[in-house]
Amino acid sequence: MADRYADIVLPLARPAYTFAVPDRMDLAEGQAVVVQFGARRYYTGIVWRIHDRRPDVGHVKPILRISSDVPLLTAPQRRLWEWIAAYYLCTPGEVMRFALPQLVKPTGLSLEELIAGTFRPRTEPYVSLDPGIVDEEAFDRTMAGLIRRAPRQHAALLEIAAAGGERLSDEAVPRRCLEADAPTLAALRKKGLIRIAEHERSTERRADNRFRLPELTPAQQRTLQRIVGDFDTHPTVLLQGVTGSGKTEIYIHLIARTLADGGDALMLVPEIALTSQLIARLERIFGSRVTAYHSKLPIRRRTESFLRLARSEGGELVIGARSAIFLPLKRLRLVIVDEEHEPGYKQSDSQPRYQARDAAVMMAALTGGHTLLGSATPSLESYANACSGKYGYARLDERYADARLPRILVSDTLRAVKRGERQTHFNRDLTERMAAALRRGEQILLFQNRRGFAPYVECPACGWSARCPHCNVTLTYHKREGRLQCHYCGHTAPLPEYCPDCGGADLRPAGFGTEKVEEELAKLFPEARIDRLDRDTATSESAYNAIIARFESGRTDILVGTQMIAKGFDFERVSLVGILNADNLLLNPDFRAAERAFQLMTQVAGRAGRRDAAGEVVIQTSEPDHPLLRQVIDYDYDAMARTQLAERAAFGYPPYARLTETTLRGRDRQMLYEAAAALAAELRERFGRRIMGPVAPPVDRIRETYIVRLLLKVEPGASAARARAILCDVVRRHLADPRFKSITASYNVDPQ
Ligand SMILES: [Zn+2]
Ligand SMILES: [Zn+2]
Repeated sequence: MADRYADIVLPLARPAYTFAVPDRMDLAEGQAVVVQFGARRYYTGIVWRIHDRRPDVGHVKPILRISSDVPLLTAPQRRLWEWIAAYYLCTPGEVMRFALPQLVKPTGLSLEELIAGTFRPRTEPYVSLDPGIVDEEAFDRTMAGLIRRAPRQHAALLEIAAAGGERLSDEAVPRRCLEADAPTLAALRKKGLIRIAEHERSTERRADNRFRLPELTPAQQRTLQRIVGDFDTHPTVLLQGVTGSGKTEIYIHLIARTLADGGDALMLVPEIALTSQLIARLERIFGSRVTAYHSKLPIRRRTESFLRLARSEGGELVIGARSAIFLPLKRLRLVIVDEEHEPGYKQSDSQPRYQARDAAVMMAALTGGHTLLGSATPSLESYANACSGKYGYARLDERYADARLPRILVSDTLRAVKRGERQTHFNRDLTERMAAALRRGEQILLFQNRRGFAPYVECPACGWSARCPHCNVTLTYHKREGRLQCHYCGHTAPLPEYCPDCGGADLRPAGFGTEKVEEELAKLFPEARIDRLDRDTATSESAYNAIIARFESGRTDILVGTQMIAKGFDFERVSLVGILNADNLLLNPDFRAAERAFQLMTQVAGRAGRRDAAGEVVIQTSEPDHPLLRQVIDYDYDAMARTQLAERAAFGYPPYARLTETTLRGRDRQMLYEAAAALAAELRERFGRRIMGPVAPPVDRIRETYIVRLLLKVEPGASAARARAILCDVVRRHLADPRFKSITASYNVDPQ
């Protein structure tokens, strides 16, 4: 028998390494194997290719053993990794480190133990409310009794109630979907408030394709037909549906068709922590076929899901964040990317710096499946692809039961100040409407883009402001902790009593964040029940769910929050939404700022007035005549898209050019700028005006490290791949200069 060799991808920077396949080893591509590397290091790697070409080295080490009996990667997935590595300028090993963390740093059980067989639980615990408290009055009484004495139990009970659906019921929810800890659940069970029982992850349910699907309105039905029709000729379809039009119901019908045919479906969501309601809903329909997957799950849970899916014969539904694109779904037929415009689909801080939406489109092409991109306000890239006919396109403009879109009012902050119609951060236009809504017993959402109390603290006498010693950024004042905090590196310091420069005692927090809004509101509306939703209050999924549950059940009148309040939920009783300061959205110099501002304001506005009555939205700004606001008021996405696309075409920005950002980092500022200038000059010899920079980003020092950037712009028609290859080559040679050895370079292709 001829000697056999295997190219193995290891979690290292080089593309692949060749090992010998021992005679009797029965090996398949995609399997995990253990190899020895160097004198005494061992790695788990993935078999990429098996061949008979002996590499040109003296001794070829043999593969030690196989560590997964089934392939962990399908052939299309290996092609996807290769595409990601080539396109986003990294190696398959770097993709592996991110996609298969369990093979890189095994914790707890070893992979072998997991594979040995006991990993798939036949039953699992389910939790339900005791029938005795499934009744609004009894439930409220119970909750009131717990809130002070047992806040954890209170939060847990809320979580269980919320996971069970819109209405109170004794529906059983899987224990693993809950954040509440074991002692808390045990205590609740002891009090007879909940029941915990083992339920089978039954196999019949897997085979049963009679799902209880939601009924579609005629408009939804037509849209579904349109999508299915477009899939005949287009691998990718864009679904543009206004907030409240019911895109989710259409997703559910498409998923049901896919599963019924024995295919797998993958639904990507921008932030899975905010989607427990959606997961619960899908689990009620699709039962144990549903797997939730994201990188914040414990590694063991992710490993279990990964291995279970690697063995599955199809009919799986995965709901996940961007990392779920790497799961081994053998019969992937449908990928849904919900809120496809969300920047969270792009991984920016570490390799692979991939855009999961674009990877999903590629994946569908590789598997012969379909991708559906859904959004109320699509990214201009996807919209342009739909206009050019590259993507299919379906539109859903009708809201449920003819609910009208909320009326948007722009309130001029400068005029309000001049007329004495502004109190702290609120124009009278807003406060009058708030008072009226509160009188009517309706709810209010207030959006402010910054968290904390005040984004900076300054001394009015000398102009000193508190800055982070490690980063080039002001410190944010968090009043509850009484401390200043850096939102970039986490550095904290007490608020000084006196100005360190002039000794002045009148240090003032300036600007305002959500914490300050909450405090001012308490003075304006002392009788209102106010809550806050941002990264400081929603520190865990259960904390987040508790805030949402309080608001949903009407125990909060006003909810203040960052863009977290823009996502997800239908709040039935919200009649008024306030955007407290649109200026920082409108006046941002980034080329995507207008698109983002439109998306965010439309999304926030969409939270007002659903089903029965039209709501109102008040946008406070000192730029009331900004043309983008007109488009927001009119809900005129097409006008926004036309204007922005024309600008991007004129100035050569995506989708009319491809951008690659090169970031250089170093502790020696002088040396860094020298290196960047020399590199830019060298690149200009090759690329001419396609090179922009070097420029310092808005925050140009983080954790004592300086940052500078260069941008490569490649127009359509030119080969972006070739340009990127040249770029990498020049950067590598340039940084090989011993003077620049402390400087590192990283790439971000299609930066967001
Ligand atoms: Zn001072
Ligand atoms: Zn800092």
